[in-house]
Amino acid sequence: MSRGPLSRLDPGERFAGSRRSLLLHSIFTSFQGEGPFLGSYQLFLRLRGCNLACRYCDTPEAREEEGGFRVELEGATAECGTNPVPIEVVEGWVSRLWERVMHSMALTGGEPLLQVDSLVALLSRIVKHGIPVYLETNGTLPGALAELLDLVEYISMDVKLPSALGGRDLLPLQVNFLQVAQKKDVFLKVVLEESTPPEELERACRFLGREAPEVPLVIQPASPSCESKPPSFSQLLEAHRTASKFFQQVRVIPQVHRLAGWV
Ligand code: SF4
Repeated sequence: MSRGPLSRLDPGERFAGSRRSLLLHSIFTSFQGEGPFLGSYQLFLRLRGCNLACRYCDTPEAREEEGGFRVELEGATAECGTNPVPIEVVEGWVSRLWERVMHSMALTGGEPLLQVDSLVALLSRIVKHGIPVYLETNGTLPGALAELLDLVEYISMDVKLPSALGGRDLLPLQVNFLQVAQKKDVFLKVVLEESTPPEELERACRFLGREAPEVPLVIQPASPSCESKPPSFSQLLEAHRTASKFFQQVRVIPQVHRLAGWV
């Protein structure tokens, strides 16, 4: 994997790049395949670059800062281009592809908040089109989230356990992030693998649940890959019991877009 300016950042830091352009991976339309908004029809804006390297990452190509972008229409590539992309060009694609039947525009990655300055400029224009913004984030950049908060409606915040990060403990940072995020419609998502130590989940739930027990928590079994094995049914049941001690709403939801063959 390349090590550009975004991936060199530690969790909690931000990218001081251009405020008027984005490192874009792709723009496409599809059904939301994860979490409580499962099945909602959305416009997706996937950005490049990430400050983490999760073992179960299902979008390694978007962690790369180098490379161009593509726009997909109904599953086929309609246009490709080079990065960085001026925000006016991104806005043009969004307004062209947006349909009134869509739930929201999903901002995903990579880690979108690494490009917060440009995103503030873009989203200030997007929301004037009446488009709600749904942010998918790894939950490690609370300062960047605070700058963007007024421009997003929904937040999907990942909970990152140390075993997925080679032992790094990001929980204090994630508690800070949740303190900011809970001012919006937020839910938590934690990916479980067969090898996830149960005590890691319990500790994360204790600290985050103490902060916001009413926030929904989604347990997402890792999708099978060479790096990652999904947990068994009994492991999921135990995880649900553990999480339910700290959160009022706990659900187990797999990545349906992978099962269904959606984009
Ligand atoms: S935060 Fe998301 S994009 Fe980044 S490495 Fe982890 S799973 Fe992949």
